[in-house]
Amino acid sequence: MAEILSGARVRDELLEECKPRVERLRESKRAPGLAVILAGADPASEIYVRNKVKACEDLGIHSEKYAPPETATTEEILSLVGGLNARDEIDGILVQMPLPDQIDSQRVLLAVDPDKDVDGFHPLNMGRLMTGRPGPRACTPAGVMELLRRYGVPLKGQRAVVVGRSDIVGKPMAMLLMHEHATVTICHSRTRDLPGVAREADILVAAIGRPAFVTGDFIKPGATVLDVGINRVTGRAEAERLFANNPKKMEAFEKRGSVLVGDVHPGDVERKAGAYTPVPGGVGPLTIAMLMVNTISSAERRLTGCSA
Ligand code: NAP
Repeated sequence: MAEILSGARVRDELLEECKPRVERLRESKRAPGLAVILAGADPASEIYVRNKVKACEDLGIHSEKYAPPETATTEEILSLVGGLNARDEIDGILVQMPLPDQIDSQRVLLAVDPDKDVDGFHPLNMGRLMTGRPGPRACTPAGVMELLRRYGVPLKGQRAVVVGRSDIVGKPMAMLLMHEHATVTICHSRTRDLPGVAREADILVAAIGRPAFVTGDFIKPGATVLDVGINRVTGRAEAERLFANNPKKMEAFEKRGSVLVGDVHPGDVERKAGAYTPVPGGVGPLTIAMLMVNTISSAERRLTGCSA
């Protein structure tokens, strides 16, 4: 039986460890402060932002939400970011992506003060990651690393394959694994013989955005498989194909009209992997927890000159 790597469990541990750090700051200085900018009305983004604000409330982190209209201009968002950069009591600024089409996202990300860039997306922080210098790391890959560490998955000398090369997941994921001495291959949509390359992996990370794309053919028996994908399947035939042997999932589909699936085929991974992250409950819960960690670390650096 493959071991299930529970992101929910690791999230709970991470949040528990955050509590005394927030307490110390509140007693000695002030609560950490996070500002979230949500421009427009993307329903998925609204849920993400609501959950981020709620996580702050639960920990006693001060949070502010800014919701410029769908029609906001780049200049308006830049001016909002500029104001937040200048405020001492704001330690972290998060610009929820995607921004409405008319906004120049690259200019906005570049405008965030790198020391308040709790998403780790600023090119300066990407450079810090690349060169192994301290700095905020992108939350999702950083969460995957925490999960691997806490489950004691060996990385040194292991073959790791990351499928996906986005700036927010694939590239930072590959760098983080390499810094832990894995031998890393990055794959993408032009990779030749993707299943063959993936099958070499002791550690396989899927960050593609295609439901159940990674099938048994991609997985070396006994590999550790990390599924970053979050895809909503709404078609009955597709749901039945993926969850033929999982009546619970089909029940959920009947109830809600949709079901979540990762980038990895759920039945295949259970059969072939040595350990894997389920969807939901795997990588997903870690992202917000790491955002909290990054916000607290930023506050500690800014207020005390060092961070845990
Ligand atoms: P993205 O920016 O769309 O990047 C997808 C990557 O997958 C690209 O590098 C793309 O290759 C590659 N790809 C697409 N089709 C492929 C194919 N047929 N074969 C091989 N590679 C292929 O997506 P992302 O932002 O990295 O997100 C990936 C997934 O993770 C999504 O499902 C997203 O919802 C999820 N996600 C989850 C969390 C979380 O908290 N758990 C956080 C972020 C993202 P090219 O570069 O060649 O186009």
